[in-house]
Amino acid sequence: MPAVPSQFHQLLDATIQYLEDLKARGVRFVPVAPEALAALSGTARPGGPPAVAPRSSPPAATPTPERSPLPSGPPAGAELFALTTSAVNPAAPRPPSLAPAAKAQAMAELCERARVCVKCQHLAASRKNVVFGVGDINAQLMFVGEAPGADEDEQGEPFVGKAGELLTRIIRTMGLGRQSVYIANILKCRPDTPGETAGNRKPTTKEMATCIPYLHEQIDLIQPRVIVALGGTAVEGLLGKTIGITRLRGQWQTYRGIPLLPTFHPAYLLRNQALSERRKLWEDMLKVMEKLGLPINEKQRTHFTKP
Ligand code: URA
Repeated sequence: MPAVPSQFHQLLDATIQYLEDLKARGVRFVPVAPEALAALSGTARPGGPPAVAPRSSPPAATPTPERSPLPSGPPAGAELFALTTSAVNPAAPRPPSLAPAAKAQAMAELCERARVCVKCQHLAASRKNVVFGVGDINAQLMFVGEAPGADEDEQGEPFVGKAGELLTRIIRTMGLGRQSVYIANILKCRPDTPGETAGNRKPTTKEMATCIPYLHEQIDLIQPRVIVALGGTAVEGLLGKTIGITRLRGQWQTYRGIPLLPTFHPAYLLRNQALSERRKLWEDMLKVMEKLGLPINEKQRTHFTKP
C-alpha cells in the first residue's frame, strides 16, 4: 500500500478537529460540495487509504461557523452532511464484497472487537452482553433497530424481547425466517438507566457516533440488497436524518447504494395497535418483498386490510 503523506494526515486532523469544534457548539449540519463528500468517504473507512491525493487547500467541509446552528438550507450545489452520528457518507460507494471464508473471518474479528469494546465506559460497565447482531451474514435483507433492551442485554441477541417477538412474526409473515435475514442495532450495548430498575432510553448522539462504525462495517461485509430501518433512531444513525419516522416511513432512501426503507419500530406497534398503523408497516414490508423479488400471495397482499 502506498505511504500516506503526513501532510495529508495533518490536513485530515485539522478538518476533523474543526468539525468536532462545530459539533460541540451545536452545529448539526455543514454544507459540503458533492466531490468533497466523495473524497471524504474514502478517508472514513477504518484503516483504509485516502481516496484522493492530498491537496494544498482544505479538502472537504466548508462550514460557516458564523451561521446559526441550524442553517435553513445548503448553498446551491452543496449537500448537508450530518455531524450527528455517522462518520461515513451514506452516499459513498461500498468496498468490494469478500469471498465467503474471508467474510466469515472478518465478521468474527469485527464481533470480537465489539465484544471487548469499552469506548463508552458507562455502557461497558453496565452491560451484561454486547449485542452484536444475528442471522445470515450473506442475507439479502437486513433489519436495523435502535439498541438492545433488557432481554437482549441478558441474552446477547437483538430483538428477543416483546418487540423482537413481533419482528420475528413480521419476518415469518414475509415468508422468511429469522436466520435467513440479518438483524442488528445502531448501538451494541444497552443504554444504561442509572437509578432506574426498568425502562429504556434512546441512545445519545455521542453513543451513536461512537458505536456506529461497527454497524457500517457489518453492512460493508454483509452487503444486503435491502436495509429496513426500524424507527427514527435507526434512520438517524444510518442516514443522519432526524426528520421523524412518521414522515419518512415507506419512502425509499439510499444508504451507500443500498435501498433503505424506514418503517415503524415494532415497539411502536406494541403501543399503538390500530389496524391502520399495522397496515402501514405491512405495506412497507410488501415494498421490501417487491424490491427483493419475493413472491407475494393474496393473503399477504391483503394482510391487515380488514379487522
Ligand atoms: N429494540 C431495538 O431497537 N433493538 C433490540 O434489539 C430490541 C429492542
